[in-house]
Amino acid sequence: MAAKANVSGRVVLITGASSGIGAATARELAAEGARLVLGARRTDRLESLAGELAATGTEVRWQRLDVTDRADVARFVDFAVAQFGRVDVLVNNAGLMPLSPFTALKVDEWDRMIDVNLKGALYGIAAVLPLMKGQKSGHIVNISSIAGRRVMPTAGVYCATKFGLHALSEVLRIENDDIRVTVISPGVTESELADTITDENTKAMVANIRKLAMGADAVARAISFAIAQPEDIDVGEIMVRPTRTTH
Ligand code: NDP
Repeated sequence: MAAKANVSGRVVLITGASSGIGAATARELAAEGARLVLGARRTDRLESLAGELAATGTEVRWQRLDVTDRADVARFVDFAVAQFGRVDVLVNNAGLMPLSPFTALKVDEWDRMIDVNLKGALYGIAAVLPLMKGQKSGHIVNISSIAGRRVMPTAGVYCATKFGLHALSEVLRIENDDIRVTVISPGVTESELADTITDENTKAMVANIRKLAMGADAVARAISFAIAQPEDIDVGEIMVRPTRTTH
């Protein structure tokens, strides 16, 4: 393990740590010496990832987490405090992307995206903000997307959630001069995200785009970069995408 200044020893909570970007971030920050609390619904995945990281000397805990349940999110943060005494960083990463055109009227999927991508992140903020204000320090990292900066057909509601994350992050930042707020906007990244698409035409279109995907470790490194800055430096946003993509 190569300790990284300003990451080593930090208590970092990651939502959606059971696959993709969340799991890659856990691996990256573990290698740099962070103390980790991992949350997601698939506890078998969390348990095995935590086992892997603990075997290399990482202080890591995990707890089942459904970010659509505000009380559950509060319990997750309480658990982290009970384990480590503080929360330095919350990575609001849990998300899903069941893309479809509006005419498909997949209203349940619209609800789900709003509940997880947007409200889930807000519940995370609500759970850590009083604590971070008390500490007079803390860092909230919200995982948005290129889709939080530009729109495309089939992504109306997904984009709305990700554009929303940019807006709320900016307000959170300007309201609080003692808390760092970072938005990470990845381009197409290898993960299980596209598995949530149920619209057949959209599935085929996205499968084609995803052939250009970068490894999730690229996003993890961007997150680590933001965390590793000195306490008085707030990285507002990082866009990171495969060089071979043009969107
Ligand atoms: P994955 O599908 O691999 O990971 C999504 C994670 O979110 C899983 O760990 C899943 O865990 C978790 N999750 C979903 N619903 C809930 C819930 N209700 N409560 C808690 N956790 C939940 O995809 P990615 O790694 O790609 O996604 C991570 C983030 O990155 C998302 O916010 C996504 O929008 C964003 N992103 C991804 C890009 C990509 O191309 N992959 C590009 C831009 C942004 P579990 O099912 O175990 O609960």
